[in-house]
Amino acid sequence: MNVAVLPTSLETAPQAADPLDHLTDVLFHRMGSEGVYARTALYEDVVERLAALISRHREPGTEVMRFPPVMSRAQLEKSGYLKSFPNLLGCVCGLHGTERDINAAVARFDAGGDWTSSLSPADLVLSPAACYPVYPIAASRGRLPAGGLRFDVAADCFRREPSRHLDRLQSFRMREYVCIGSPDNVAAFRERWMARAQGIAQDLGLSFRVDQASDPFFGRVGQIKAVSQKQQSLKFELLVPLRSEEQPTACMSFNYHRDHFGTTWNILDARGEPAHTGCVAFGMDRLAVAMFHVHGTDPLAWPARVREVLDIETPGTIDAHVEGWR
Ligand code: ATP
Ligand code: ZN
Ligand code: MG
Repeated sequence: MNVAVLPTSLETAPQAADPLDHLTDVLFHRMGSEGVYARTALYEDVVERLAALISRHREPGTEVMRFPPVMSRAQLEKSGYLKSFPNLLGCVCGLHGTERDINAAVARFDAGGDWTSSLSPADLVLSPAACYPVYPIAASRGRLPAGGLRFDVAADCFRREPSRHLDRLQSFRMREYVCIGSPDNVAAFRERWMARAQGIAQDLGLSFRVDQASDPFFGRVGQIKAVSQKQQSLKFELLVPLRSEEQPTACMSFNYHRDHFGTTWNILDARGEPAHTGCVAFGMDRLAVAMFHVHGTDPLAWPARVREVLDIETPGTIDAHVEGWR
């Protein structure tokens, strides 16, 4: 018999279980904030293998760059981030006052008061996506060669969207391939990557579908932007049904920015026209969580084909890692 127990208040209501919850203690250590986790060796090993797999698919002539988790605030402002996602941005702040100001703030804290009112913004923000810093770097190189430029970038990203769901973190890893060139260069790049990425998902034994998507633009004006983005087919996502078919999780996205970054940074293509840009983004943490959710928490027991593409071929070859796992 089912007995419905009505919670007396919201605080005492047990949090509804999420289908991904069973993974939390196997893959992560909690760090006291929602969506921010320390990672176990078991988990990190799979993230590294996924990264290696994605690297193996890198197109020739692609320049590799790795970015730190912070970037120039001025560059992100210029990129238009505040117009689209101001609610998601994390900004670095510091105690920039005189010694006296700083001591006063610390003294307030020691007395149980609020020290944060003395904070002021630094010239840095936490990178919300991996590709933002690459456009000004490309712009500094002068006019693009025929065929455009391609980059392989990655960063630890931050988005202020606290959630207890393991597939929506505040701090997560993003890997991207970026194309900067003529409209034709970018269209061809995106088509190649949409096909290749589906091959990767297949190799990983994930069920998925690719669908048109829009970014979570902020506010009411944002909803209009989202509709227009969809109408112009600017964004597609590779969606994996982790908690349900109806609410699948975007593990990769394929984005066409038209001439937004080309115009913003004055990047000219080989003909002298504002460059177009596009990127394919891999959510490394979402992909890793998906792997454990779909195939189980013991990679040695994953399907043979999946172990092969991730180079987990036989227990023997990963003995060293297994030691770290358990
Ligand atoms: P969503 O639709 O789930 O909010 P998004 O459309 O905002 O994601 P993108 O901006 O396209 O995501 O980011 C590229 C990829 O980074 C996503 O496809 C996803 O795999 C990953 N990603 C985005 N936000 C998060 C997050 N909060 N936690 C973990 N991974 C994320
Ligand atoms: Zn991007
Ligand atoms: Mg989305």
